[in-house]
Formats: sequence, structure tokens, C-alpha cells
Amino acid sequence: MSQEKLKAAINEYFTAHSSVIETEILRILGEMVSKRTVNVPTSKLGNFDYLTIRGEEWRVAEIVQREFDSWGIRYDVFERQKGRPNVIGYLGKGEDHSKILFIACHMDIVPPGSGWETDPFVMTRRDGFVYGRGVLDNKGPLASSLLAAKVIKDIGADESITGQLQISALADEEAGDPDGVDYGIHYLMEENLISPAYAIIPDIGENMKKIDIAEKGRMVITVRAVGKQAHGSTPHLGVNAINKMARFLAELEHHTFQYVEDPILRKPTVNVGEIHGGAASNIVPSECTCDIDCRIVPGQTPEGVRDEMKMLSLRIADDFEFSIGDASLPHAIDPDNILVKSIQANARAFGLLPEPFGLGGGTFAKGMNEHGILAVAFGPGDDTAFHMANEYVEIKQLVTFAHLICLIAADLTM
Ligand SMILES: [Zn+2]
Repeated sequence: MSQEKLKAAINEYFTAHSSVIETEILRILGEMVSKRTVNVPTSKLGNFDYLTIRGEEWRVAEIVQREFDSWGIRYDVFERQKGRPNVIGYLGKGEDHSKILFIACHMDIVPPGSGWETDPFVMTRRDGFVYGRGVLDNKGPLASSLLAAKVIKDIGADESITGQLQISALADEEAGDPDGVDYGIHYLMEENLISPAYAIIPDIGENMKKIDIAEKGRMVITVRAVGKQAHGSTPHLGVNAINKMARFLAELEHHTFQYVEDPILRKPTVNVGEIHGGAASNIVPSECTCDIDCRIVPGQTPEGVRDEMKMLSLRIADDFEFSIGDASLPHAIDPDNILVKSIQANARAFGLLPEPFGLGGGTFAKGMNEHGILAVAFGPGDDTAFHMANEYVEIKQLVTFAHLICLIAADLTM
């Protein structure tokens, strides 16, 4: 089958079967939403009585494997830890490694949180949308991608593809432990279990109107203020570490870090996210720690930001301590590439004109690009619905996304 014939066959299939495809996406998505694949750091597992390990992605992986089996699609399962599998389905011969397109979806979800109008673990349909934890992040795009695989298989394109379309259901996107061990995409890359030329990560929303080609670097800085313990009735005999931290945070709030504005990523951001200090109201606290999230732009480094904070702290005291936790550098790729062009050209038929842009958050794209894979993030849904109560996605977009994956695969894998 030629590329043109394949594209025509894909378009015909979607025209003839769009309601069946929609029904299938929703059937699979509804079942996935009922699985509580909540991923939190191990230290917070105790808050979730239904979790025995982080993520428990096996609950969704079972569904993915069952569907691949029933459609006759080959797949592998890779797991670094039992119960936290990664499933990758393969379409095409896989002979030409320069023509492998990897779709990276994740099976873990963030906790439901509060404020839901419906049960977060029951997919609810209303007015062309579905609601539930994970319908957008990332089980909806996963269900779409699975249907894209089924379409490619059904029209017999599997035989014509010399490269490969790889549809993945990954573990361990939403949370990490302090040990830094990864059970998802980084595990697969570290162990050389995948080596695609291209990757699309449908994990940004933007209603398929933007393509993420750049991401800010992310770092967490832990600041520690040291005081001197004393009885609460005699605060003058101690040094209050919380007050010290408060003065530092007030300085930080009004500080502008040195940076050069980036054309895509713009400005860096700083968020004081967590604070801990004190043991009781009648004790002068001897310690206060604070975790600060910084998103940095090209030209900034984690060490530079830390040093600037340290300078700032000298206005208050000379014994503040700063340590850099998780840190990554910003990344950006040239938007003038075959992957971005294929997404744009195919999206046009759906009235979409996706533009390259940059993100403050991070997706798998950064790590994959650092590993030599040309990866962008692009997908359905509203970016504002991620990690929120009443998470939602438009059903029509899930069908369009499946269709687009098939067309992009026709461009890149033959
Ligand atoms: Zn996600």
C-alpha cells in the first residue's frame, strides 16, 4: 500500500466507522477510569487505603493487553517493579529504525482531590464531554491511541509499514520518590528497551492547537532556617526559625531573578510550595524548612538560582541552608522538523492549525529529546482541566486524535 492509499483508507475508515470508534474509545476509557491507578510518593501511600504500591498501573495494563490480544496486535510488557508495567503495542515490520513513531501515554493518575460533582472513578458523560479522574490525563488519549492501533490493524496497513507505530501505556509519570528511581519512560530508555526516531506525547491539552517544542527546566530548592529552641513564654531567649523564614520569603517574593527573556519560554517562575516548622505553639521553633519550585529558562542554571537565593538570604542571616533537589535544564528543539510539519499538515483537515510553543511544566518530551528522540507534546483537551476536580475532555477530540495519529503514522513510518 502506498502512503497516499493508506491515508485514503484511513480517512474512509473513520468516515464509515466514526460512531463505532467513539463507542470503543468510551468503552475502554470508562473501564480505565474505574481503576484507581493513583501515583503518589511512597511517603503518602498511607493516605490511600486502596493502594498497596504507588500507581498500581497493572490495573490499566490488563485492559490494554486484553484489547491488544483481541485485536491481534503484538506487544511487549516491561516492568522494573512487579505491578508497575509498561505495555508497548507494535504495528508494522519495525525493519527501519529511522521510521519508528512512539506514542507515549501514561496510565497513572493524580489523586482525585476534592470538589467533584460526580464520582471521580466513574466516567460520566454529559453534553459531548466525559468527566472523571484521568479522562484527559492521560487515559483518554491512551484510549484514543489504542483505537488508532486498531484502525491501522483493521485496514491491513500493518503489512505496509516498514518502520513501526508503537503505542505505549506507561507507568510512573505523575510522581516520583526521593530515590529518583523511575519505572516508566526513563526506565525504558535507560535499559534501551525503546529506540524510536519520533515521539508524540499527548499530555498537554491545548485542544490540539499547540505543539510543545520547548520546556522550562525545573528544580526544587529546599531552604532551611535554623533557630534556637526556647520556652514559648520566653521567646527572647530563643531564635524563632519560622520568623526567620518568613523574612526570607518576603524578600524572595519581591526579588526578580536574573534571566534573559526566551522567545518561546518567556520568563522563569518561582513558587513557594511547602513549608514545615515548629513542634507546638508553646515552643520557640528551632527549625523551619521550605520547598521552592523554580522553572528556569535557557541561560539560567540551578546552581545560579541557588546562589542568588543565598545572596538574598544574607540580608537576614548568614546561616540559611540551601539544597537543590530534583533539577533539570530547560530544553528546546527547532520547530522546523518533519514531525512538527506532519502534525500541522494533517491537523489542517480538521480545522486545526497547531503552533509550536513552550511549557512551564514538564512532559516526557524533555527526557526523550535528551535521549536523542525527536519528541513533541501534542494532544486533545483543555490544559486547564489537568489535575483539577471535574476533569473533563471533549469526546469528539478523542476521535479526532485517534484519526490524526493514524495519518501522522502514515507520514512517518512508511
Ligand atoms: Zn499526564
